Amino acid sequence: MSVIKIPELLSGNRRSLAKAITLVESTLDKHREQAQDILQQVLPHTGKSIRIGISGIPGVGKSTFIEAFGLHLVKQGLKTAVLAVDPSSPVHGGSILGDKTRMEMLSRENDAFIRPSPSGGALGGVAQKTRETMLLCEASGYEVIIVETVGVGQSEYEVAAMVDFFLVLMIPNAGDELQGIKKGIIELADALVINKADGESVNLAKQTQRHYRNAFHLLGSNSFWTPEVLTCSALNHDNIDSVWGMISNYRVDALKENAFHEKRDKQNIDWMQKLIHEMLEMKLRQNPDVLEQLPRQKSLVEGGQTTPYAAAKSIISLL
Ligand code: GDP
Repeated sequence: MSVIKIPELLSGNRRSLAKAITLVESTLDKHREQAQDILQQVLPHTGKSIRIGISGIPGVGKSTFIEAFGLHLVKQGLKTAVLAVDPSSPVHGGSILGDKTRMEMLSRENDAFIRPSPSGGALGGVAQKTRETMLLCEASGYEVIIVETVGVGQSEYEVAAMVDFFLVLMIPNAGDELQGIKKGIIELADALVINKADGESVNLAKQTQRHYRNAFHLLGSNSFWTPEVLTCSALNHDNIDSVWGMISNYRVDALKENAFHEKRDKQNIDWMQKLIHEMLEMKLRQNPDVLEQLPRQKSLVEGGQTTPYAAAKSIISLL
């Protein structure tokens, strides 16, 4: 791979950005080192975007919404990047979030950049690659970063932990179970947006909106922000502007309350801690003394000759 010129990346050159992301996503050590070098160099130019996480079960209308939302942003002159975190994304073949044929209109816009989900693998998995890709997009001048994910497994938690604002899309239906809504997800959300509020579903959407507004009211809030519940029709591009208005208000309020940078700092520190754990674990797994001693300690524990605590301690002392 040819060398990436940092000034080109910073000036918004799409090819440089795509190449840098390829390095970030690579599983080769050599590429990952190059990627880290680039990240260090561009770090002072990162952090200026608003990072928005968007989640929802398959079929809720994520790609339709993101396309409408992205087109709205681009029309206002905002450079918008769309990244995906899909834990099912394999090296080859299909995934829950589908592939590039989605968001066709948005992908034709000069000010939009769409990147499908990386596959997992390296340290920190998909989340690490997406975090790094987010930084590269920011350095390349993108002002809004959308991170899309699906309502499965840990991915929603991982995305909520890397964005400023986490939005959950829903369909008009008051039953929580039907939407696969876990209480934890509601607690993660800065906003719920009831999509498909069109045609015969308008009333049901309003009803759903009331239901969740009450739920948030009952939950109470110990922050400056009480999660909002809006309705929209991504298909008809209806009320998409209100969603952006709400997020813009959030940013203004969060900056005023000093909560914006506090949240990012906390996210970075939490992530660092998580990486320390992962790196330690990797060191353990690769340490020849540990590999040699582990079976012995296991059989001692099984035979009741030592305690799990003492065995763990003796393994750790080998590092
Ligand atoms: P995803 O799986 O969450 O990405 O959902 P898609 O964006 O692929 O949408 C799933 C289906 O819902 C498609 O057939 C869309 O046309 C439809 N859809 C998406 N948004 C709306 C909407 O606002 N109103 C209606 N009526 N249908 C919609």
